[in-house]
Amino acid sequence: MERWLIEDRNSLCDGQSLEKHIRLSANEQRHLAQTCAQFQMKVPPYYLSLIDGDDPDDPIRRMCIPDPRELRIKRGELEDPIGDTNESLNNQPVMAITHRYPDRVLLYPTPMCGGYCRFCFRKRLAGRREFSLTSAQLDRALDYIRSQPSIHEVILTGGDPLMLGDKKLFGLIEGIRSIEHVWTIRIHSRMPVWNPYRITDELAEGLRAYHPVWIVTHFNHPRELSPLAEERLAALIDRGINVLNQAVLLKGVNDNQETLTELFWKLIRNRVKPYYLHQLDKARGISHFRVGIRKGVNILRELRGTIPGYAIPHYILDIPGGYGKVPLQYHYLNSDGQGNIIVEAPDGQLKMYEDGVEKSPEKLMAVDQVHPIEMYPSEIKTQLDDLQNSNEHETGVEDSRAMKKAG
Ligand code: SF4
Repeated sequence: MERWLIEDRNSLCDGQSLEKHIRLSANEQRHLAQTCAQFQMKVPPYYLSLIDGDDPDDPIRRMCIPDPRELRIKRGELEDPIGDTNESLNNQPVMAITHRYPDRVLLYPTPMCGGYCRFCFRKRLAGRREFSLTSAQLDRALDYIRSQPSIHEVILTGGDPLMLGDKKLFGLIEGIRSIEHVWTIRIHSRMPVWNPYRITDELAEGLRAYHPVWIVTHFNHPRELSPLAEERLAALIDRGINVLNQAVLLKGVNDNQETLTELFWKLIRNRVKPYYLHQLDKARGISHFRVGIRKGVNILRELRGTIPGYAIPHYILDIPGGYGKVPLQYHYLNSDGQGNIIVEAPDGQLKMYEDGVEKSPEKLMAVDQVHPIEMYPSEIKTQLDDLQNSNEHETGVEDSRAMKKAG
């Protein structure tokens, strides 16, 4: 049996086996079975070995060991936070497909994962066998893609597509590759994190035949980039497979500039481009991982100028309900109220910039008083005014206004 399958088979899935390896608090012991009943646990031995057993707040531990706080469902938390199945958006034309943007689709070939992330945004399907696809359902999904010439990219996600064995995976990719209007295939996987043994030379060699293939990994903490994970990433990249990383901003795991600096440096040293840093989705029972948007934006601001620009990912909010992704950005651009542009330098100094006219650096001047520049086009401004005038103030709007003010 392949090493990754042995690793998978030996994963710890209940409190009894877990307790043989790690000390649980009395509270954890009391609630573990109940917590796992809400969202199952699975920790491969390899991933368990990354935990510092002496530290009850170890970030690796937090990502894989159930926490009784998962039983608390907060207001606004959703079963399907990013609207994969939002019927009003009509974006699920057939089972296992989400078609949100004209040029790409998500395809979920399996609900199974290499381990179950405690902050999972797809708890509604992750690990639930009833969402496994039959070959007839998979054929229907491929027929749909074939029928839509606007689709140029298929994103395999899940669950974790690399939980499929090579034969099934390559069969699926072959089917997608045979569709002429599909130009790129993207595979979203946390297997390089949970179980790097999955990235066999055979897998990497097989994927090479289907270029262009992009793999998007999911490293959240620098310690997840173990020597084994680094070696297996190299097996992909040496074969010309492009690897990106999407992390999630998680309280107690990576919500500070130092940890993210280390993570992003480690990724680019391994030739992996940090692509997204996600604002945590509003999935049920994960509020103890939530970091406020203001804090997230400020962490990103601290990173600017301290690590190479290409090492800084987009900080992204998936608008709850399935309304799409938007970048969350610190506003470096301001106005002095007299039509002049004021920009904030990475060290926080404000400089005047005369738009379109070259000026020597001596003539740029720092200013104390700035006003937010009007960035919204008029139709968006009208909507914003309407929102402000109604009593339906949502947290996101308040955050965005506060950020504009802060800018
Ligand atoms: S790998 Fe993805 S789908 Fe699976 S548990 Fe983690 S976040 Fe959820």
